[in-house]
Amino acid sequence: MIRRRDILGVLATLPLPMSALPGSALAQSAGAAAATPTETTFVEVAEGVHVRVGPVEEMTPHNRGGVANLGFVVGREAVAAIDSGGNPAEGAAMIAAIRRVTDRPIRHLVATHMHPDHIFGNQAFKAIGAEIVGHHRLAAALGARAESYAMSMTAEIGAAAMAGLVVTLPDTGVADERVLDLGGRTLRLKAWDTAHTDNDLTAFDETSGLLFAGDLVFLDHLPVIDGSLKGWLAQVPALKAVPARAVVPGHGPATAPWPTAIDRQTAYLEALARDIRQALAEGRTLAETVGTAAQDEARSWKLADAYAERNATAAFAELEWE
Ligand SMILES: [Zn+2]
Repeated sequence: MIRRRDILGVLATLPLPMSALPGSALAQSAGAAAATPTETTFVEVAEGVHVRVGPVEEMTPHNRGGVANLGFVVGREAVAAIDSGGNPAEGAAMIAAIRRVTDRPIRHLVATHMHPDHIFGNQAFKAIGAEIVGHHRLAAALGARAESYAMSMTAEIGAAAMAGLVVTLPDTGVADERVLDLGGRTLRLKAWDTAHTDNDLTAFDETSGLLFAGDLVFLDHLPVIDGSLKGWLAQVPALKAVPARAVVPGHGPATAPWPTAIDRQTAYLEALARDIRQALAEGRTLAETVGTAAQDEARSWKLADAYAERNATAAFAELEWE
């Protein structure tokens, strides 16, 4: 059940920085965290690089939207977090997890893209003064979707997990590249052309050779198209050229060898484009196509039931006019 008042409460505070909110909103968020602690166990996958592996599941009241992989990187002087989780309590729990590892300042939160499972914990980082960095299109994209996300997420994960939520936009945008200096190590951020979404940002830790790819790279979890199928495929050569030794995908295991980890996703996306183009060439309709396009390839991934037809629908709409 979605109560209109809850949604309006989210929207009313949308443009405000966390520091402008009354203390009651903060207390409400902290209370939610205390009542329902979020499982936020990080593993150190390379020196100073910690990853929380999200379950490969749809967002539900049980997981409270906490399904994305999250990470943080510790430098000599500062810490950068990569994505903040699927609800305010998860963002707070992530900060607590960082604090168990280091007391160095958490200077940056890198938001890989607009999807709620990656950014609904942002307000906890805003509250401690971290700079939230995103793709230069993230603020507009997230702002435009705030109402629909508030409604859909309340339905998917429940009002309790959404309690105290303030959809928190980035402080700064990256149009091309930016280097974050954490002291003795750098995170190289890159803004990509439209692919998984129109606001995908990656973070490459040159010291460990790990690439935080956000949802530009899916493993196990069927890739989800919310940007452009053609655009995503067009990015693959440049993605594979990133000189990383391993990738931290947005969903799937903590790390996987790079660049081979992207090949299975590319094969699925290519099969989808091939099948949709063939259907269009044969004059088949959307309804005749969505249930069959790349279905064999999709079935080898988890959550195909949830996303395969949706991907085919998005791809059909995109390729219909090429
Ligand atoms: Zn995503």
